[in-house]
Amino acid sequence: MQTIVIAGGGAGGLELATRLGDRLGRRRRARIVLVDRSPTHIWKPLLHEVASGKLDPQVHQVEYSAQAAHHHFEFVHGEVTSVDRDARIIDVGACHGGDGLERQPGRKLRYDKLVLAFGAVTNFFGIPGAAEHSMTLDSVSQAEQFRQRLVALCIQKGLRRESGAEPDAKVNVVIVGAGATGVELAAELHHTAHALAKYNIHALDPARDVRIRIVERGERILPQLDAKLARNAEQYLRSLGIDVSTGSGVARVTSDAVHDDAGNVHASDITLWAAGVEGPQVCAALGLRLNRLRQILVGPSLQTIDDPKVFAIGDCSSHICSVNGTVIPPRAQAAHQQAVFLASVLGKAGVDQLPHFQYRDYGSLVSLGPFVAVGVLIGRLGKLGNRGVVVDGILARVLYRLMYRKHVLALHGFASMVAQTISHWLRDRLAPPVKLH
Ligand SMILES: Cc1cc2nc3c(=O)[nH]c(=O)nc-3n(C[C@H](O)[C@H](O)[C@H](O)COP(=O)(O)OP(=O)(O)OC[C@H]3O[C@@H](n4cnc5c(N)ncnc54)[C@H](O)[C@@H]3O)c2cc1C
Repeated sequence: MQTIVIAGGGAGGLELATRLGDRLGRRRRARIVLVDRSPTHIWKPLLHEVASGKLDPQVHQVEYSAQAAHHHFEFVHGEVTSVDRDARIIDVGACHGGDGLERQPGRKLRYDKLVLAFGAVTNFFGIPGAAEHSMTLDSVSQAEQFRQRLVALCIQKGLRRESGAEPDAKVNVVIVGAGATGVELAAELHHTAHALAKYNIHALDPARDVRIRIVERGERILPQLDAKLARNAEQYLRSLGIDVSTGSGVARVTSDAVHDDAGNVHASDITLWAAGVEGPQVCAALGLRLNRLRQILVGPSLQTIDDPKVFAIGDCSSHICSVNGTVIPPRAQAAHQQAVFLASVLGKAGVDQLPHFQYRDYGSLVSLGPFVAVGVLIGRLGKLGNRGVVVDGILARVLYRLMYRKHVLALHGFASMVAQTISHWLRDRLAPPVKLH
């Protein structure tokens, strides 16, 4: 029986483990092992909602051990640190709890086929001060830190304004990068500041005292969307009172400001860096060829170009479409399609002459807060061949929520997805719109 090890249980890796477990593990046609450094999974596109307090990560997380038990794969908790490709063994580091005590010892896992699905980390592009003074949204804990810092700052500044110690106290949030993550976060934060004020958590006037600014090097926001849609989205952000500064890159970041290369200084109490991603450090420790963003180079069947028994999917990989030469973007829909593809080919005994993966871009949807989204749908969903159809408003918002439901469907099946949707809907009706502490 062959052993297939999947390193990283994110949007791609967990779906792959679930599909392979159901397909091969259940009938004992292969041993499927998933390794992740965290005990729980959350779908990464939800992280801006965790950061804004709109979403409680505990409600949406998946316990890897439970998923493994239900879907016939094994889960190993620990960080993959290196791979011995000659011996076909991966090293998994020991796991420690919050008290510093060892929970799981380090261990070695043998594989016949290995799938690397480590995701990506924030790319600071070497900008001085960016890594030291910016927060990021790479994990649930970082999103939670951001949220707690925002709430604490709003409370502190409100008290200073009330006591007269700082009569014009403000909270300045600067988001670097106007891709989907930066724009979605800015829109959510606007609503968070208002919701916190409504529940008397802070004494600031959210419209006047909580300043949210997006700084973008490109000439416009949301480069993945059509120019008119991006203009509409920018107008909508401005109507919320969000400042949008395009056309100048960040030159340096300090503890209290973001300096752009046009000489502007944007005061900042919290800087959130959302300007790009790169492969995590572990990619450089595997002896595999990488691109300049430290992503692992893979061929048409998603095998790494240096080792046909090692595959890579999702944000940690670099796959160039053999038909039109386009680079597959670091998106959840790409990780999902790659997981579906590998689930159908990894059961084969050999690694030669595997079919080729073909990426289909189904478009992009960007959320602009609780009630609005914009985007373009292409292909089957858009029903317009490859031209795409523009959607916005409530329809786009509903379709945006469906993207997550699709992920839940892939992990848990239809009945659980419906039950979860109803329970989340009820919870949203009963709980405050954002976390208040
Ligand atoms: C705020 C935000 C919003 C986004 N919005 C969208 C969107 O609207 N649409 C869209 O298509 N995409 C979106 N994305 C991008 C999308 O989340 C990623 O493209 C997708 O999650 C990539 O999937 P992945 O499986 O490659 O990696 P991930 O989902 O990042 O998972 C990687 C996994 O690997 C684990 N891991 C990492 N290193 C190790 C190690 N050394 N050992 C063990 N485990 C390890 C991590 O714990 C994690 O579980 C968004 C991303 C962010 C941050």
